[in-house]
Amino acid sequence: MPTERCDAAVAGGGLTGLVTAASLARAGFEVVVVEGRERGAEGDGRVSAITVASERILRRLGAWERITGAASFRRMRVWEASGGAEIRFDARAVGAEHLGHIVENRVIAEALEEVVESLGVAWSRPSRVAGLELGRGEVTVELGRSPGRAEGRARVRSRIRAGLLVGADGGDSVVRSLVGIPARGRDYRQLGIVCSVRPERHHRDTAWQVARPAGPLAFLPLPEGLCSIVWSTARGHAEHLLALADDAFRRELETAFEGRLGAIEWAGPRAGFPLRAIRAATYSAPRVALAGDAAHTIHPLAGQGVNLGILDAAVLAEVAAEAAGRGRDPGGRAALLRYERRRKAHNLAVDLAVDGFDRLYRARGRPVRALRNAGLAAAHRLAPIKRRIILHASGFAGDLPASASE
Ligand SMILES: Cc1cc2nc3c(=O)[nH]c(=O)nc-3n(C[C@H](O)[C@H](O)[C@H](O)COP(=O)(O)OP(=O)(O)OC[C@H]3O[C@@H](n4cnc5c(N)ncnc54)[C@H](O)[C@@H]3O)c2cc1C
Repeated sequence: MPTERCDAAVAGGGLTGLVTAASLARAGFEVVVVEGRERGAEGDGRVSAITVASERILRRLGAWERITGAASFRRMRVWEASGGAEIRFDARAVGAEHLGHIVENRVIAEALEEVVESLGVAWSRPSRVAGLELGRGEVTVELGRSPGRAEGRARVRSRIRAGLLVGADGGDSVVRSLVGIPARGRDYRQLGIVCSVRPERHHRDTAWQVARPAGPLAFLPLPEGLCSIVWSTARGHAEHLLALADDAFRRELETAFEGRLGAIEWAGPRAGFPLRAIRAATYSAPRVALAGDAAHTIHPLAGQGVNLGILDAAVLAEVAAEAAGRGRDPGGRAALLRYERRRKAHNLAVDLAVDGFDRLYRARGRPVRALRNAGLAAAHRLAPIKRRIILHASGFAGDLPASASE
């Protein structure tokens, strides 16, 4: 049987892969997504803080209006534990209505799946990229079966030929390994505990984060006064917290959050995620581009991982469409290097800032604490610095794709 050919194959149907597939399909490319998990696989309870720039990209793709239960937040408050300095941000400082939205990852994925299907994107799932062979003007992707059955219209192929392969297959990217792109990693030796909670007092549309010596604890606003917490802490401590009975966990959480929203009246199921940073040396190889966590996995303390992946996806599709529009090869070296130039420096800057923040807040000793507090207090008073931080947090930094414009 001849192997089917498409313009682009996307390895990974996570949020980065889905935005890549939708953006490429909207630009007129024929796309196949290869995903290791079955359709309708359980969500993992994670939520994401979606920036205004990402919201615009999702809106242009027709995904945003399909998303239900997104909670907007207008303010952020970040402070150092045990009476340290505090910095507050308000969307009004940049003339905006909100700073972003908190949305369940599963809900965003479902909306994007509907969009890619409406755009005629084909699926191969459950199947995994298992090998690659570079040919003239194309790459052949060898697929291995994942455990499970193929369902519905999804078909499980054994090979796909494509002009471009996008590795959006997450931090442990097989595509990255198969093309031999080296990656440097850092294990934070922390778990991020994720859980929905109901505090006694309303969150007031504010994203809260306390910097604790073992890692940050965030309360992200959800509808109906609920919050989603991300508690990053040393692995041993996290395992202890995960094993606690419900009421004991709620008490520990209340204390760690310094009672800012009163008692924690209810807490849902908890899940722990190992936290690490991964930095790919390059984002491209012949006929292959890396995007999202496959290219850069970062600490969740600034809530930027998904957003960087969405920007990668939008820029990659924009670059491919520009190349095709000029009669050039969208999967060729020039287009892929252009993508890398537009995305890598920005992703690296965010990664370094987030990593620096983690180190700064975990450093102990009175002089460091005094310095941190002085820095935070000064930043709080300086409106231009705050405006810059707000614009970065809203996703308006780096070489943005046209789809992120108003
Ligand atoms: C606790 C925690 C909280 C976070 N909070 C935020 C936040 O508030 N805001 C934010 O922006 N980011 C946040 N992040 C980061 C964010 O979750 C990730 O950056 C994002 O999910 C990465 O998406 P991705 O699609 O690139 O990779 P993944 O989500 O890892 O998706 C990869 C996909 O590829 C598939 N796959 C893997 N191997 C293969 C293969 N060989 N063949 C085919 N398919 C394959 C997998 O099944 C998966 O579906 C958080 C992370 C953690 C751990």
